[in-house]
Amino acid sequence: MDLINILPDSVANQIAAGEVVDRPASAVKELLENAMDARATQIDLIVKDAGRTLIQVVDNGCGMSDSDARLCFERHATSKIHQADDLFAIHTMGFRGEALASIAAIAQVELRTRTHDNELGTTILIEGSHIVSQQPTACPAGTSMAVKNLFFNVPARRNFLKKDSVEFSHIEEVFRRITLIHHDIAFTLNSNGRLLYDLKPGSLLQRISQLFGNPYKERFFTVEEETDIVSIKGFVGKPEYARKSRGEQYLFVNGRFIKHPALSAAVEKAYDDLLPDHSYPSYFIGLQVDPSRIDVNIHPTKTEVKFIDDHALFAILRSAVKRALGQFTLATELSFDTPEEFNIPPAPKGYTPPAPKINYNPDYNPFHATPAQTHLKLTKKTYDIDDLKSLKVSADTVTSTPHLSSTLPQSTCMQVQNSYIVTPLTSGLAVIDQQRAHERILFDKLSHSHINALTQSQTLLFPINCSFSPADADLFSELLPDLRTYGFSVENLSQTTFVVTATPPDIKEAELQGFFDQILTDYKGAVMTKFNDRTRALCTSLARQMAIRPGTPLTQEEMQQLVADLFACPMADTTPSGKKIITIVKPEELLK
Ligand code: ADP
Ligand code: MG
Repeated sequence: MDLINILPDSVANQIAAGEVVDRPASAVKELLENAMDARATQIDLIVKDAGRTLIQVVDNGCGMSDSDARLCFERHATSKIHQADDLFAIHTMGFRGEALASIAAIAQVELRTRTHDNELGTTILIEGSHIVSQQPTACPAGTSMAVKNLFFNVPARRNFLKKDSVEFSHIEEVFRRITLIHHDIAFTLNSNGRLLYDLKPGSLLQRISQLFGNPYKERFFTVEEETDIVSIKGFVGKPEYARKSRGEQYLFVNGRFIKHPALSAAVEKAYDDLLPDHSYPSYFIGLQVDPSRIDVNIHPTKTEVKFIDDHALFAILRSAVKRALGQFTLATELSFDTPEEFNIPPAPKGYTPPAPKINYNPDYNPFHATPAQTHLKLTKKTYDIDDLKSLKVSADTVTSTPHLSSTLPQSTCMQVQNSYIVTPLTSGLAVIDQQRAHERILFDKLSHSHINALTQSQTLLFPINCSFSPADADLFSELLPDLRTYGFSVENLSQTTFVVTATPPDIKEAELQGFFDQILTDYKGAVMTKFNDRTRALCTSLARQMAIRPGTPLTQEEMQQLVADLFACPMADTTPSGKKIITIVKPEELLK
C-alpha cells in the first residue's frame, strides 16, 4: 500500500507559516519590508486590536501588475532573486518568497495594487490560501495589503497570543527597528484609530528623537568609521544615560536590524568601566558591509547573521565606539579634583599613633542558642513601624522553614564585603546574601499584604516626569492601580508622559525612569497564564529592584533586622526566582 501523498499547498503553506508568522508583529515586519523593497517613500501601518483584527500596510511603491498580484501569494514567488547565486548578493529585505504565501494561509487578505504606468489596479481577496475574488479597481499607485483576522483558522496560535498591550509592544518594536534605519522614508503608525507616530524623513538623530522623545537629541555621541571591510555610522549613548535594561540597543547591517551578541559585546566593551554595574548603554549603530561577506540566511526571521570578518569587525567597532566616547573619558581624566577623603592631613609633630585595638566579648559563645531578640529597633528608612510589629519574630513562633526554625540567629551579625551577612546559628554559621534576602522579604510583604505593603510612601520634593513609548505607556497605565497600592503616586500627564509625586521609600529619584522601564521589561517577559501571575510578575520586579544592592554597608541593627525578617518568611532560603539566599557552614566544616 502506498502511504505517501503530497500535501496540498494550503496545508504546506500553513505549516510554513508557523515559522514565518508566529505573532502579529512578524506579519507587520514582512509587510513593512515588502513596502521598502518596493522603494516606497511613504509607508502607513494601521493596526486594530494589536494586529489580531487588522494589520494593513499602505505604500506608494512600485505596485504590482494583475498577474504579479495573483502570483505573489504563491510559495517561492519572488521578484527579488532569480537564481541561487543571487542569494549572495542580496540588497533587498525579502528574498525567499515565503511571507505572503504564509500570511495568506492563515488570514483573510485583501490586496489592492496598481503600478505607476497602469490606469487601473487590481483587488484580490484571498482567504486561507484560496483566492476568493480578483477584480480590476481604481486605486492609488502603490500597494495596500490588509491582513484581517490573523490565525482565524489556527485557533491554537490565536489562543497562544498574549494580551493586546504585549502584542502591540512587539509590533511597536518591529516598527522601531525598521523606521530607525530607514529614516529617509516617511512612516505613520495608527493603532485602533489613534495616530501614534507620524515620522517625517530626516537624519538618524531626528528619527531617534521622533521615536523616543525630544530629550534624546542630547544623549549621544556620534560614531563614524570608514574601513575597507566596513563603514560604521551611528550614535552611542553618553554613559550618564545608561539604562538598567538592555532596551535601546540597535545594531543594523545593510539596513537590516540584527542581533549579534559578539558585536554588541564589542560596543559594551568600549565603555570599559564608564558605566555603573547593571546598567547598559543605549546605541544606534548602522554597519555597511559587502553583502557577499555576510550570510543573513541562517535564521528564517533573519535577525541573526554571520560575518566572514568576525574578528576584524569586532575590533573596528570597539575602537570606533571608544573613540566616540573619548570626549567623555578625556573630560573625566582632565578633572584634577581629588576626592576629599584622600586628603589625609599630616600628623602633628611628636605624635605617635596608637596601636589598633580589637574589642571583643570573652563570654560570647556563638553556638549557644538563646531565643532571638525581637529586633524592633527600627531602621526607619526601610520599614514602617506597624509593618514590623506584625513581622515580629521569636524563636518559638517561627516554624515555617523547618530546617532553619530551630536555629534562629543570635544577636551578632557581621558584614563581609558589604554584601554578605554572616551570623552564627545553632546549626553552624549562616552566610546570607543581603540583596537576595531583602528581595525575598520585600516580595513576601508586597504579595501577601497587597494593600498595606509599602503604603508608607515618600513625597518627592520635585515631581518627576517619566515617559514611555505609546505601547509601553498603555501597559504602564494598566499597572497604575497596582503601583498605587505599593505606594507610588502617579498620574497621566499626556498620552505617553506620567508625573510621579511619591514613591515607596528608598527609590532613587534619578533612577525612577529606569526603574519603571525595568518593570515593563520584566512584565512583558513574564509568562502570564493565570490571573495571579500579573501580581507576581510585578512584585518580583519591584522586589528585585528595591532590594539593597551588594556593596551597601549595613549597621548592626539593620543586619539583625534583615536576618529576623528573612527568617520570618516561609521560604527563607530562596528568592522568588529560585536563587539561593543562605549557605550554612556546619560546625564540623568549621573545625576543619
Ligand atoms: P519576498 O519579499 O521574499 O520576495 P514575499 O512573499 O514577501 O516574498 O513577496 C512576494 C513578492 O510579492 C515580492 O517579491 C514582490 O515582487 C511582491 N510584493 C510584495 N509586496 C509588495 C509591495 N508592497 N509592493 C510591490 N510588490 C510587492
Ligand atoms: Mg517579503
